Amino acid sequence: MRSHCAEPEIKEILISREKIQSRVRELGEEISRDYAGKPLMLIGVLKGSFIFLADLMRHITIPCSVEFICLSSYEGGTESTGIVRMLLDLRSDSSGREVLIVEDIVDSGLTLNYLMDNLRTRHPASLEVCTLLNKPEERKIPVPVKYTGFEIPNKFVVGYGLDFQECYRNLSYIGVLKV
Ligand code: 5GP
Repeated sequence: MRSHCAEPEIKEILISREKIQSRVRELGEEISRDYAGKPLMLIGVLKGSFIFLADLMRHITIPCSVEFICLSSYEGGTESTGIVRMLLDLRSDSSGREVLIVEDIVDSGLTLNYLMDNLRTRHPASLEVCTLLNKPEERKIPVPVKYTGFEIPNKFVVGYGLDFQECYRNLSYIGVLKV
Protein backbone atom coordinates (compact mmCIF):
# COMPACT_ATOMS: atom_id res chain seq x y z
CA MET A 1 0.00 0.00 0.00
CA ARG A 2 1.22 3.55 -0.70
CA SER A 3 2.30 5.56 2.30
CA HIS A 4 0.37 8.56 0.95
CA CYS A 5 -1.90 9.42 -1.96
CA ALA A 6 -0.32 11.61 -4.62
CA GLU A 7 -2.17 14.26 -6.62
CA PRO A 8 -4.63 12.51 -8.94
CA GLU A 9 -2.81 10.96 -11.90
CA ILE A 10 -5.94 10.78 -14.00
CA LYS A 11 -5.63 10.64 -17.77
CA GLU A 12 -9.34 10.74 -18.57
CA ILE A 13 -12.61 11.53 -16.81
CA LEU A 14 -14.85 8.67 -17.90
CA ILE A 15 -18.02 9.64 -16.00
CA SER A 16 -18.55 13.11 -14.56
CA ARG A 17 -19.92 13.84 -11.10
CA GLU A 18 -23.14 15.21 -12.67
CA LYS A 19 -23.74 12.07 -14.75
CA ILE A 20 -23.14 9.85 -11.72
CA GLN A 21 -25.52 11.86 -9.54
CA SER A 22 -28.34 11.82 -12.07
CA ARG A 23 -27.98 8.07 -12.80
CA VAL A 24 -27.84 7.21 -9.07
CA ARG A 25 -31.07 9.16 -8.58
CA GLU A 26 -32.73 7.17 -11.40
CA LEU A 27 -31.55 3.88 -9.90
CA GLY A 28 -32.93 4.84 -6.48
CA GLU A 29 -36.29 5.70 -8.02
CA GLU A 30 -36.41 2.45 -9.99
CA ILE A 31 -35.51 0.35 -6.94
CA SER A 32 -38.14 2.17 -4.85
CA ARG A 33 -40.82 1.35 -7.44
CA ASP A 34 -39.74 -2.30 -7.82
CA TYR A 35 -39.64 -3.02 -4.08
CA ALA A 36 -42.71 -1.00 -3.04
CA GLY A 37 -44.37 -2.77 -0.10
CA LYS A 38 -41.34 -5.05 0.43
CA PRO A 39 -38.84 -3.90 3.07
CA LEU A 40 -35.42 -4.07 1.50
CA MET A 41 -32.04 -5.16 2.87
CA LEU A 42 -29.16 -3.47 1.06
CA ILE A 43 -25.83 -5.24 1.31
CA GLY A 44 -22.89 -3.01 0.47
CA VAL A 45 -19.69 -4.71 -0.63
CA LEU A 46 -16.78 -2.92 1.07
CA LYS A 47 -14.85 -0.99 0.49
CA GLY A 48 -15.52 0.14 -3.08
CA SER A 49 -19.31 0.54 -2.87
CA PHE A 50 -19.55 2.76 0.20
CA ILE A 51 -19.98 6.11 -1.56
CA PHE A 52 -22.36 4.73 -4.19
CA LEU A 53 -24.39 2.98 -1.50
CA ALA A 54 -24.63 6.12 0.64
CA ASP A 55 -25.87 8.19 -2.31
CA LEU A 56 -28.16 5.44 -3.64
CA MET A 57 -29.78 4.89 -0.26
CA ARG A 58 -30.73 8.58 -0.03
CA HIS A 59 -32.73 8.17 -3.25
CA ILE A 60 -34.56 5.06 -2.02
CA THR A 61 -37.88 6.18 -0.64
CA ILE A 62 -39.16 2.86 0.76
CA PRO A 63 -38.16 1.30 4.12
CA CYS A 64 -34.70 -0.28 3.89
CA SER A 65 -31.88 -1.44 6.12
CA VAL A 66 -28.19 -1.66 5.34
CA GLU A 67 -25.52 -4.26 6.03
CA PHE A 68 -21.93 -4.54 4.90
CA ILE A 69 -19.78 -7.37 3.75
CA CYS A 70 -16.09 -7.07 2.97
CA LEU A 71 -14.53 -9.21 0.28
CA SER A 72 -11.05 -9.13 -1.08
CA SER A 73 -10.08 -10.34 -4.53
CA TYR A 74 -7.58 -7.88 -6.00
CA GLU A 75 -5.10 -7.75 -3.11
CA GLY A 76 -3.94 -4.25 -4.12
CA GLY A 77 -3.28 -4.97 -7.80
CA THR A 78 -5.28 -4.18 -10.92
CA GLU A 79 -6.26 -7.73 -11.94
CA SER A 80 -8.53 -10.19 -10.20
CA THR A 81 -6.67 -13.07 -8.60
CA GLY A 82 -9.80 -15.22 -8.76
CA ILE A 83 -9.37 -16.03 -5.07
CA VAL A 84 -12.08 -14.36 -3.01
CA ARG A 85 -11.78 -14.01 0.76
CA MET A 86 -14.51 -12.83 3.13
CA LEU A 87 -12.99 -10.30 5.51
CA LEU A 88 -16.23 -9.15 7.20
CA ASP A 89 -19.61 -10.87 7.30
CA LEU A 90 -23.19 -9.61 7.81
CA ARG A 91 -24.26 -8.72 11.33
CA SER A 92 -27.92 -9.59 10.86
CA ASP A 93 -29.87 -12.50 9.43
CA SER A 94 -30.69 -12.28 5.71
CA SER A 95 -33.00 -15.30 5.59
CA GLY A 96 -36.47 -14.45 4.29
CA ARG A 97 -35.34 -10.90 3.36
CA GLU A 98 -35.49 -9.04 0.05
CA VAL A 99 -31.76 -8.68 -0.46
CA LEU A 100 -30.11 -6.27 -2.90
CA ILE A 101 -26.33 -6.50 -3.21
CA VAL A 102 -24.77 -3.10 -3.95
CA GLU A 103 -21.46 -3.39 -5.81
CA ASP A 104 -19.07 -0.79 -7.16
CA ILE A 105 -18.05 -2.71 -10.28
CA VAL A 106 -18.53 -6.13 -11.86
CA ASP A 107 -15.54 -7.19 -13.92
CA SER A 108 -14.73 -10.92 -14.22
CA GLY A 109 -17.84 -11.69 -12.12
CA LEU A 110 -15.82 -13.96 -9.80
CA THR A 111 -16.36 -11.84 -6.68
CA LEU A 112 -20.09 -11.52 -7.25
CA ASN A 113 -20.48 -15.19 -8.13
CA TYR A 114 -18.80 -16.13 -4.84
CA LEU A 115 -20.96 -13.69 -2.88
CA MET A 116 -24.22 -14.80 -4.50
CA ASP A 117 -23.45 -18.49 -3.85
CA ASN A 118 -22.65 -17.62 -0.26
CA LEU A 119 -25.80 -15.52 0.30
CA ARG A 120 -28.09 -18.09 -1.39
CA THR A 121 -27.20 -20.62 1.31
CA ARG A 122 -28.83 -18.22 3.82
CA HIS A 123 -32.19 -18.43 1.99
CA PRO A 124 -33.17 -14.83 1.27
CA ALA A 125 -36.71 -14.23 -0.10
CA SER A 126 -35.02 -12.67 -3.15
CA LEU A 127 -31.47 -11.87 -4.16
CA GLU A 128 -30.60 -9.23 -6.79
CA VAL A 129 -27.62 -7.10 -7.71
CA CYS A 130 -27.19 -3.37 -8.29
CA THR A 131 -23.80 -2.28 -9.59
CA LEU A 132 -22.60 1.21 -10.38
CA LEU A 133 -20.24 0.01 -13.12
CA ASN A 134 -20.20 -3.04 -15.36
CA LYS A 135 -17.29 -4.20 -17.53
CA PRO A 136 -18.99 -6.91 -19.63
CA GLU A 137 -15.94 -7.51 -21.89
CA GLU A 138 -14.00 -9.04 -19.02
CA ARG A 139 -16.68 -11.44 -17.77
CA LYS A 140 -15.36 -14.92 -16.93
CA ILE A 141 -18.52 -16.20 -15.29
CA PRO A 142 -22.11 -15.06 -16.00
CA VAL A 143 -23.73 -13.16 -13.14
CA PRO A 144 -27.31 -11.83 -13.06
CA VAL A 145 -27.11 -8.05 -12.62
CA LYS A 146 -30.55 -6.43 -12.31
CA TYR A 147 -29.54 -2.76 -12.00
CA THR A 148 -26.51 -1.22 -13.75
CA GLY A 149 -25.42 2.39 -13.51
CA PHE A 150 -23.02 2.45 -16.46
CA GLU A 151 -21.39 -0.04 -18.79
CA ILE A 152 -17.73 0.86 -19.27
CA PRO A 153 -14.88 -0.41 -21.45
CA ASN A 154 -12.14 -2.61 -20.11
CA LYS A 155 -10.08 0.06 -18.35
CA PHE A 156 -8.96 0.23 -14.74
CA VAL A 157 -10.98 3.02 -13.14
CA VAL A 158 -10.82 4.91 -9.85
CA GLY A 159 -12.93 7.44 -7.98
CA TYR A 160 -16.37 7.59 -6.34
CA GLY A 161 -15.32 4.84 -3.92
CA LEU A 162 -13.03 2.86 -6.22
CA ASP A 163 -9.35 2.82 -5.39
CA PHE A 164 -5.90 2.02 -6.60
CA GLN A 165 -3.81 0.94 -3.62
CA GLU A 166 -6.28 2.69 -1.28
CA CYS A 167 -5.98 6.05 -3.09
CA TYR A 168 -8.45 8.05 -5.20
CA ARG A 169 -11.66 6.82 -3.50
CA ASN A 170 -12.55 10.45 -2.69
CA LEU A 171 -12.76 11.68 -6.31
CA SER A 172 -16.32 12.72 -7.16
CA TYR A 173 -16.00 11.34 -10.72
CA ILE A 174 -14.91 8.06 -12.30
CA GLY A 175 -11.52 8.41 -13.98
CA VAL A 176 -8.95 6.31 -15.77
CA LEU A 177 -5.58 6.18 -14.08
CA LYS A 178 -2.37 7.10 -15.94
CA VAL A 179 -0.18 3.99 -16.09
P1 5GP B 1 -14.41 -9.19 -10.33
O1 5GP B 1 -14.35 -10.30 -9.34
O2 5GP B 1 -15.77 -8.98 -10.97
O3 5GP B 1 -13.32 -9.34 -11.37
O4 5GP B 1 -14.00 -7.87 -9.59
C1 5GP B 1 -14.83 -7.21 -8.72
C2 5GP B 1 -14.05 -6.33 -7.78
O5 5GP B 1 -12.77 -5.99 -8.33
C3 5GP B 1 -14.75 -5.02 -7.59
O6 5GP B 1 -15.65 -5.07 -6.50
C4 5GP B 1 -13.61 -4.04 -7.37
O7 5GP B 1 -13.26 -4.03 -6.01
C5 5GP B 1 -12.47 -4.63 -8.17
N1 5GP B 1 -12.35 -4.03 -9.52
C6 5GP B 1 -12.68 -4.55 -10.72
N2 5GP B 1 -12.42 -3.70 -11.71
C7 5GP B 1 -11.94 -2.57 -11.14
C8 5GP B 1 -11.51 -1.30 -11.66
O8 5GP B 1 -11.51 -0.98 -12.85
N3 5GP B 1 -11.09 -0.40 -10.71
C9 5GP B 1 -11.05 -0.67 -9.38
N4 5GP B 1 -10.61 0.30 -8.58
N5 5GP B 1 -11.45 -1.85 -8.87
C10 5GP B 1 -11.89 -2.79 -9.74
